[in-house]
Amino acid sequence: MPELPEVQTTVNGLNKTVRGLTIRDVWSDLPRARVARADYHDTIKYAPFFEHFQKTIHGAIVVSAERRAKNILINLNNGNTILIHMKMTGHLMYGDYMLDTKTNEWAPSPDEKNDALRDPFNRHLHLVITFTNSKQLVLSDVRKFAKVTLLSTEVAHKTKHLDGIGPEPLDTHFTAKEFIARLATKPKGKIKSVLMDQNVVAGIGNIYSDEALWLASIHPLSITSKIPLDMLENLFRAVRTVLEKGIDFGGDSTSDYRQIDGTRGNFSHEHNAYRLKGTPCKKSGCKGAILRIVVGGRSTHFCPLHQQLWK
Ligand SMILES: [Zn+2]
Repeated sequence: MPELPEVQTTVNGLNKTVRGLTIRDVWSDLPRARVARADYHDTIKYAPFFEHFQKTIHGAIVVSAERRAKNILINLNNGNTILIHMKMTGHLMYGDYMLDTKTNEWAPSPDEKNDALRDPFNRHLHLVITFTNSKQLVLSDVRKFAKVTLLSTEVAHKTKHLDGIGPEPLDTHFTAKEFIARLATKPKGKIKSVLMDQNVVAGIGNIYSDEALWLASIHPLSITSKIPLDMLENLFRAVRTVLEKGIDFGGDSTSDYRQIDGTRGNFSHEHNAYRLKGTPCKKSGCKGAILRIVVGGRSTHFCPLHQQLWK
């Protein structure tokens, strides 16, 4: 699942490509449901909501894109904000696409010079927003779990989609003290699970929690309240380091995530723990090898030698 660095990379890409563009048309094959089930009645999967979505964003200009936790917010000039959560396999791309009216499927047009958009990972298009410059912003999502909704910009951060999410770890005002106080709200939790809890701190998932714990030399099963203060301070710095590095490398494309131009992010080559089961630990002087265990239902990778367990 895309985490903070992947979502930030997409948001940066949106600000470079679609900011200032006017929406001409919206297409989707997701709105199949006509029954308002609680889990999607306010998303474009519910057909009447999609009709409202289409009408409301038609003719609007993209003012800016921003990120909150793992959510993408596309602010429009008519007081509305498109919220997209990419979930497991979703990613946004921008280019020159066309609809094959026989198959009712979108694909890059013959004029599109960027071959990355033709990568098989980028061909599961379920939402297409066409601008007046005739180019498209598309959502590729093989599993179709992504959430797309529309909010009033003024109250977007107060809605159930964003309210209650913990602080942003890369916010310049966020301190080690506040980070430790947030972790202390789950004193009995295992640190791996607590780090991934969006209500504790925003934006961290499976990849960056593994990487931050490896860097901070903390075992993922450590009980949060038993970890010494100086180690938690290390963890605060490690979290920031791995997230910033993730952004610098354009995100992680171990799974389906791609950048706005359809190319892979390069953080996948920078892992020290995530999905490196059985490989020698890269920490200088450490003779350990990476193990894989399951914590809270999530696969977890760590070095049993230098990552210390507190319980
Ligand atoms: Zn090690």
